[in-house]
Amino acid sequence: MVKILFGICATEIDMNAESTIASHDRTIDRIDSGARFKPTDAVRLNNMFRGRSTNEMLTSVFEDGIAGDIALVSSFGAESAILLHLVSQVNRDIPVIFLDTGKHFPETLAYRDLLVERFGLNLINLTPEVGDIEDKDGNGLRWSFDPDGCCHIRKVLPLEKEMAKYDASISGRKGFQSKTRNALPRFEIDTSDAQGRLKINPLADWTKEQLDAYIIEHDLPPHPLVEQGYPSIGCSPCTSKVAEGEDPRSGRWKGWDKVECGIHAPASAIPNADDDGANDPIF
Ligand code: SF4
Repeated sequence: MVKILFGICATEIDMNAESTIASHDRTIDRIDSGARFKPTDAVRLNNMFRGRSTNEMLTSVFEDGIAGDIALVSSFGAESAILLHLVSQVNRDIPVIFLDTGKHFPETLAYRDLLVERFGLNLINLTPEVGDIEDKDGNGLRWSFDPDGCCHIRKVLPLEKEMAKYDASISGRKGFQSKTRNALPRFEIDTSDAQGRLKINPLADWTKEQLDAYIIEHDLPPHPLVEQGYPSIGCSPCTSKVAEGEDPRSGRWKGWDKVECGIHAPASAIPNADDDGANDPIF
């Protein structure tokens, strides 16, 4: 029996896949393609870091390697600067993935470039496959009649391909942002595929007041569309202004029964989530 550590993942994978070919009397090792992390790993990590600051948690995760190879996924949206700044202070080499759907506001692209330069980020700009766009969204209007399909080819597929390289992702989602994210834990299992990656939500328990204070303390530049009435910013065709007092994410896919783009599941639906009551995310 052979035992390996998968990457730096804390999960020991038992290569219990030996098989013996009797006629040659030799053993063949098969690579175990099972999930990297299990729901119990997420629960254990949530318990391990309960009561510890976001900075302590990030430092420990990066330095101890308990989550393996990590990438940060950022929308460069309304409050993205906070997480990007936090992470860049601990480790600037972490890959920062941006899903360049081809449908973003020009202000978002300019904001991305500004933050990349200011924080020294290691940006990975992901674009959809040209063939997928040609085959399924030739006129660029799929968002208007099939937003799930549009998100699938412009976000889900490119991210799925890129994330095959990593054991964990960092998301900027926050618990207070909407009622669909009010059960968000700091660590959860990424359910977008069967790989069992960890999804880390460092800002899960941050309040709006904490976010505002961090922005002031570190003099972080705001996304230019926030002051125009967009508290949550995604692709331009699917983002509307939000009135004072409304759910910040209510301006996303307005008029559609759609609350996430497909790369996140509503937090309340995540099985075995260790809900410490602190939760809520952002994309
Ligand atoms: S948010 Fe809208 S435009 Fe962007 S990928 Fe999804 S459906 Fe398409």
